[in-house]
Amino acid sequence: MVDVRRADLHTHTYYSDGHLSPRELVEKAAQHGLVAIAITDHDTIDGLAEGEQAGMECGVEVIPGVELSVTVREESVHLLGYFFDPAHVELREHFERFIAHRRERVYRIVERLSASGMALSFEAVQALAKGRVLGRPHVAEAMVEAGHVATERDAFQQYLADGKPACVPSVSFPAAEALALLHEAGGIGVLAHPGHWTADQTVMTLIQCGLDGIETIHPGHDAMLTGYYRQLARDMGLLETGGSDFHRPGPESAMGRTAISYAWLARARSVAETRRARSVS
Ligand code: AMP
Ligand code: FE
Ligand code: FE
Ligand code: ZN
Repeated sequence: MVDVRRADLHTHTYYSDGHLSPRELVEKAAQHGLVAIAITDHDTIDGLAEGEQAGMECGVEVIPGVELSVTVREESVHLLGYFFDPAHVELREHFERFIAHRRERVYRIVERLSASGMALSFEAVQALAKGRVLGRPHVAEAMVEAGHVATERDAFQQYLADGKPACVPSVSFPAAEALALLHEAGGIGVLAHPGHWTADQTVMTLIQCGLDGIETIHPGHDAMLTGYYRQLARDMGLLETGGSDFHRPGPESAMGRTAISYAWLARARSVAETRRARSVS
């Protein structure tokens, strides 16, 4: 029988650059008829416990997830981690290091903007983040608030996007280390939205490093990219995952539209379980 239950394995809360609390996110997922979600905040699991609690109350299964910023040679990509032990010490240490690093990076971005005439205070940026994880989206919001740009999109296009004048590169966290860490913590690692920028050679390198799956279903993937990555996943024997990459309600939200069958989630979980069983034997 076809499993008609639907799941969303890519969502953000205000613990990173999303706008909703974990509870509001879970309630939204329930309204959309989703039976399971993964909260995949950038470099933190601060929203997990609240999400799990809300999930139990709303009848939505909440999977431990995270979106890690990693590097493959010079290229930066996002890896989605799932099913890891949220108490794993080294994983938690990594999150703490990265959260501190992100603060420093945003501080330097603000300095660059201020030096080029766009006065902005670090405190103003920080005030826009409800959690501990700061990122460029918070800077973009602060720039709009201060009247330096009309929209957050303009802020990225003119100043903050990779390679633009105010973008300070993130420290390098090699993908091979990230995958090893996720595996040690009992989880799996999946390449997020490869259709954004990821070169094929990068995907191949990630596979050699132990990548478990590819996020084939993503609002940024059109039919051609979806087909391309679905075929690649099949050819390479990788899992497929997908989700809405939800950040906030509004016309750009794909929650409810971009989702996957629960059967894919079950398969991903069993791969994580098999990995764990192998590592203890
Ligand atoms: P950071 O984590 O600070 O490197 O910022 C990356 C986040 O900013 C991504 O996860 C997106 O949510 C957002 N982002 C990155 N590039 C753009 C862009 N060109 N336009 C709008 N948002 C972007
Ligand atoms: Fe984001
Ligand atoms: Fe991402
Ligand atoms: Zn994301």
